[in-house]
Amino acid sequence: MNILLTGGAGYIGSHTAVALASAGYTPIILDNFCNSDKSVLKRLEKIIQKPVACVEGDVRNTSLVEKVLREHEINAVIHFAGLKAVGESVQKPIEYYANNVQGTISLLDAMRSANVKNLVFSSSATVYGDPQYLPIDEHHPLSATNAYGRSKLHIEEMLKDLAASDPAWKMMCLRYFNPVGAHQSGLIGEDPSGIPNNLMPFIQQVAVGKLPKLKIFGNDYDTIDGTGVRDYIHVMDLAEGHLAALSHLSKNPGWSTFNLGTGKGSSVLEMIAAFESSTGAKIAFEYVPRRAGDIASCYAAVDKAQAALSWSAKRTLEEMCASGHQWQNYRHSFV
Ligand code: NAD
Ligand code: UDP
Repeated sequence: MNILLTGGAGYIGSHTAVALASAGYTPIILDNFCNSDKSVLKRLEKIIQKPVACVEGDVRNTSLVEKVLREHEINAVIHFAGLKAVGESVQKPIEYYANNVQGTISLLDAMRSANVKNLVFSSSATVYGDPQYLPIDEHHPLSATNAYGRSKLHIEEMLKDLAASDPAWKMMCLRYFNPVGAHQSGLIGEDPSGIPNNLMPFIQQVAVGKLPKLKIFGNDYDTIDGTGVRDYIHVMDLAEGHLAALSHLSKNPGWSTFNLGTGKGSSVLEMIAAFESSTGAKIAFEYVPRRAGDIASCYAAVDKAQAALSWSAKRTLEEMCASGHQWQNYRHSFV
């Protein structure tokens, strides 16, 4: 089976390409490299031990996408391509709607023309807004507080409308919680440009001396130790969730949503402790005021994915931290 990965050169897409190849699928990447580096392809090929087909281009180029779908005889698409920085989305809403929403419309248009109607979409736990209860299940009310989150909501709704219009479409929205860590080879991983916005890449850069200390955004939340709690999931577990999704998709027409998380929340201090114990590195930190828009706690109900996809996250916090550290050490060596 040939699977098109839009945004496949990025963090989650590259790990999913590895998982697909080891399960016998053929991944084909379409990426415009606006947030990834072409060198990832050579590193991917080293892991997979096979050439990886990659087309450089934008998902908004509908005729190019249609050509790729036809020429590579694509069976299903996993749509990772998009912009993902919450803060930036508030400053640049047009860019976010153009890339994420318009990009998806273009992809769907091309898929319809090429008669490829199987789609797995990268959604996010951000569509749940400020949690009204925990753990968050798929029935939790949806809301958005920024352009990034609203772009994901718009896309989910668009896919639902499309599924209702034509029973040939099979579509799944996977709502990722907080992917962290890296492939065990240490050759691929999250590679943010500039100062990282997210906790784990920040900790990883403090550990290798690239940044002096972590600023913890608030220690007065109603959580186990006052710091924010999130559901961190190993990126390889997340990648394998896409394999489970593809196999579910083949038997289930229509539209569905699934949480991909571990079901377990960890605080910032617990993440620092896990990182220190699994790597031996020391993470200097200081407390600073809360970050605007942050929520206290967020973690997934994972029963639906367990029951319907026969998938659950397996890897530990220590494995997430150790693999992320290994990748950062490698990445730091060629900066
Ligand atoms: P990433 O930025 O590492 O990867 C996205 C890739 O898409 C990049 O390689 C980028 O160059 C490419 N891209 C962007 N716009 C494109 C376009 N118009 N045409 C072609 N390629 C384009 O991000 P990621 O962390 O791998 O995230 C993948 C998807 O998962 C995104 O849709 C993101 O919103 C979603 N998601 C990510 C997280 C997370 O914490 N990483 C959490 C929830 C959801
Ligand atoms: N966080 C922090 N310092 C940072 C980055 C994040 O204290 O430099 C905290 C943040 O307040 C939240 C948790 O770490 O409680 C996870 O933040 P991240 O941005 O990684 O994920 P998100 O908040 O988007 O789920």
